[in-house]
Amino acid sequence: MDGTLSANDISHIVTADREHVWHHLSQHKPYETTDPQIIIEGKGMRVWDQKGKEHLDAVSGAVWTVNVGYGRESIAKAVYDQLIKLNYFAGAKGSVPGAIFAEKLIDKMPGMSRVYYCNSGSEANEKAFKMVRQIAAKRYGGKKHKILYRDRDYHGTTIGCLSAGGQDERNAQYGPFAPGFVRVPHCLEYRAFEQEGAPIEHYGEWAADQIEKVILREGPETVGALCLEPVTAGGGVIAPPEGYWPRVQEICRKYDVLLHIDEVVCGVGRTGKWFGYQQYGVQPDMVTMAKGVASGYAAIACLVTTEGVFDMFKEDAADPLDYFRDISTFGGCTAGPAAAIENMRIIEDEGLLDNTTNMGAYMMDQLHALKDKHAVIGDVRGKGLFLGAELVSDRDAKTPMDEKRVMAVTADCMAQGVIIGATNRSVPGYNNTLCFSPALIATKDDIDEIITAVDSALTRVFA
Ligand code: PMP
Repeated sequence: MDGTLSANDISHIVTADREHVWHHLSQHKPYETTDPQIIIEGKGMRVWDQKGKEHLDAVSGAVWTVNVGYGRESIAKAVYDQLIKLNYFAGAKGSVPGAIFAEKLIDKMPGMSRVYYCNSGSEANEKAFKMVRQIAAKRYGGKKHKILYRDRDYHGTTIGCLSAGGQDERNAQYGPFAPGFVRVPHCLEYRAFEQEGAPIEHYGEWAADQIEKVILREGPETVGALCLEPVTAGGGVIAPPEGYWPRVQEICRKYDVLLHIDEVVCGVGRTGKWFGYQQYGVQPDMVTMAKGVASGYAAIACLVTTEGVFDMFKEDAADPLDYFRDISTFGGCTAGPAAAIENMRIIEDEGLLDNTTNMGAYMMDQLHALKDKHAVIGDVRGKGLFLGAELVSDRDAKTPMDEKRVMAVTADCMAQGVIIGATNRSVPGYNNTLCFSPALIATKDDIDEIITAVDSALTRVFA
């Protein structure tokens, strides 16, 4: 740490935090007797807390966000230069970085055409849901308005997004939810045995076919869109099985269902391609993205559509209702696209997509080696630098590991100075997967350090 904060400053900050900040995802009772942890600085893959303790961050800012790593002065400078020129203008007006980033982004997304700016993943998804509803109203007398979402997927924190939320415990106590959202089964091959009728072979096609069954049950004339994560994040780091995505695409085309891919986590490099869907050769109609777009240097999210979707909103210009009547106050912040342009340049110039593919493969091998050594690892999965290790108490029965012991592993790593994650704690039975999403700049040494910490944590916790 650079030492600009005195011991008194730090003590003041900790007290102010304890007395006035309501932390995300936190039960605050323990902070009555222990200090909240405050992250003071970051550089590259590492962050330092208020005690000066150094941590290797294996989860890119807790929630897979800081793709290009900490302390990027060139992003700070790009944002600074833009802010002193023009910080903000919203509504129907454009901005210089908004136009330039849209052009660069579309260049990475063949088949896509239009970028709609907003400020969080939830908000981008809400906007996509609104588009589906409006298309249904305009074209199908409101009938084709249902949105399908998948068990275990997560799309955000708002009531609309929770209505499309596949993690039950995240939703508990927040209902009633919005109507018109319908769940389809998950595609986690490791837990296929829990799904009635799931075959041993061709599981991917079978899992996709379950979506078709839901469409037929609901009536294809009522289903407007299917919203999926390319690789499910908080629901268990689920990379879909072989055969899944091509079949999903076929089904969407067959029933004229828009394919909305939620790239809030996978987008902008996390899996080793610009977008997760590009790993699977599918062509979406709508794509939402947020976290990696500017690596957390500014709040920015985007909803990207095809020209076909865009065109539907200008076909009857004489009708006062026939445009997308939506706005986002902070969609007018120029810091977001200014940071995003530089973020994208860094990923390109530093070859971070290739690094992600190579280091992801290396880390996957290391996790498999850990699985050979530790019987508590039941499954290892993921894509690129987006990996998970599911812990079980009985390998044959695949019994999910007790949450407290999973948390003991993450706490042990934290004590060793390595921050790893675990899937959404609040989903019973689904809370047993260790998560790894280091920045895309990770080296073999960084990965070795993470693996060594996990190895000794597993040894200690399950001795
Ligand atoms: N979609 C996915 C797949 C996510 O993981 C998240 C957040 N973890 C969101 C949407 C919501 O994004 P935000 O928190 O920016 O609203």
